[in-house]
Formats: sequence, C-alpha cells, structure tokens
Amino acid sequence: MKIEILEKTDTNLRVIVKDAEVPLMNALRRIALAQVPCMAIDEVVMIENSSILQDEIIAHRLGLTPLKTDLNSYNLPEECPCQSEFGCPQCRVTLTLDAEAKDGTRTVYSGELVSENPEVGPVSDKVPIIKLAKGQKLKLEAYARLGRGKTHAKWQPVCVSAYKYYPSITTPKELCPDCTKCADICPKKVLEVKGGKVTVRDLLACTLCMDCVDACPKKPSPLKVEWEKNSFIMNIESTGALPPERILQEATKILGQQLKEFEEQVKVE
Ligand SMILES: [Zn+2]
Repeated sequence: MKIEILEKTDTNLRVIVKDAEVPLMNALRRIALAQVPCMAIDEVVMIENSSILQDEIIAHRLGLTPLKTDLNSYNLPEECPCQSEFGCPQCRVTLTLDAEAKDGTRTVYSGELVSENPEVGPVSDKVPIIKLAKGQKLKLEAYARLGRGKTHAKWQPVCVSAYKYYPSITTPKELCPDCTKCADICPKKVLEVKGGKVTVRDLLACTLCMDCVDACPKKPSPLKVEWEKNSFIMNIESTGALPPERILQEATKILGQQLKEFEEQVKVE
C-alpha cells in the first residue's frame, strides 16, 4: 500500500491511498466517525440562569461546542480506574462560565468558558452560546469527558470523513467539431478546451458524476471516465478536537485492537 499526502493543514488531511481495498477504507472512514474518542461537555450544573433560554437548551449548545482534546492525559470514563459516576481528574475536565449583561444586551461566546486545564478548551472562542439582555445572568459549571461518536454526535472528532475512487479520464484525440459540451457541463471544471483539444485540467477534482459522458452527443462517447479499482482519495476534516492525522492514526489503532480481539475469540472458540 502507498500513501501520498495531497494536502495537510491544522484541520484538514487529504491523501491518496494506492493498492488498498474498499472494506479497509470503509472501516477506517467509519471508525473515524464513530469510534475515535474526543472531549465534549457531558454534564452541566446550573448555578444561576436568568436568561430566556431553558437550562437544557444551554446545556445542549455547550455539548456541541468542539473542545480541544488531550487524548494522552485522559481516560474514557468506562475505562478509568476510578469507576466513579462523577469522574476524577483523569477522566473529567471542569469548565466554568460566569457571565452577566451589565450595560445592555450582549452575546456570550465560548471564549468565556474557563477550563481548569488550558489544553482542553473550546476550539474557537467565537461560538455564540447565548444572548443576555441587560441584568440577566448565566453562571454554570460544566464537566467535559471523553466519548465516542456512536454514543452522541458531539463526540465525533470529524466533520468530514470520506473517500472516493481515484479517477482515470481518457480524452478524445481530436476536438469534436463545434462541440465543447463535455468541458462546459462539468461542475468541477475538470476538463478544459486547450490547443484544439479537450484536456484534463484538474483530475483529482473529478467526482465521477459522468455528466460529461452523458452530455456527449456521440454514442458511444470518445471520452472515457473510469476509476482505478484499488486507489482512493481520502479526506479527513477535523472539528479541531484533534489533528486530522492523529484521527487517522487512532482509527487504525482501534481497527487493529478489534481484529486482535476477534482473533483471540476465534482461538478460544
Ligand atoms: Zn476517573
């Protein structure tokens, strides 16, 4: 198997994977979505809420605020030696919020949450939590824990986890007289007319929608759009909770553990 990095930023990873099988790619995609743990607020204790929103709505909004995750320092609550309902410093992070609108209506943003651990806090300071009118107050204590996306979407470390086949396009040798329909219709502008020929401008942008082949008046079309059976373009976009490469590494680790467990069970049987 060969992996080539196309694009890597703080939140996005795009790689070409060659000589791989669909079931493997799909397993990694699904594990990244549902099983790689990340931090999210799981419990909120309201101390004072004189805003117009109910406690539950505020708690829900806090839960869906992405938090930076420190996977090395925290345990999943079910795996933590404390086995406590309330958690311990190894499986829980406390965040507090104390906001008041003194001078008039104002918006309270995620940046006002104060975390006991600076490594675990909101990914962005700009997530609006609530609007307070003059004189209204919101004071609360929130507990964040590790969890998995299969339990609740707030514990999903990715907003995109997808792959597509690697495209392969064969263009006609000569430009068909007065026809550039294939190049015109492509929504991703993959094809272009250059030097009296239809050429491929951006192969990797192709989504294999086949609009170009359908638009061709010639049947069969001299334009061939196919895909490589064992090559994929995978895209992982993180919510900011974890670096995207870490999400992929964790996904492979989880798959490995599951296969090992399966193997041991088979031996026992
Ligand atoms: Zn614990």
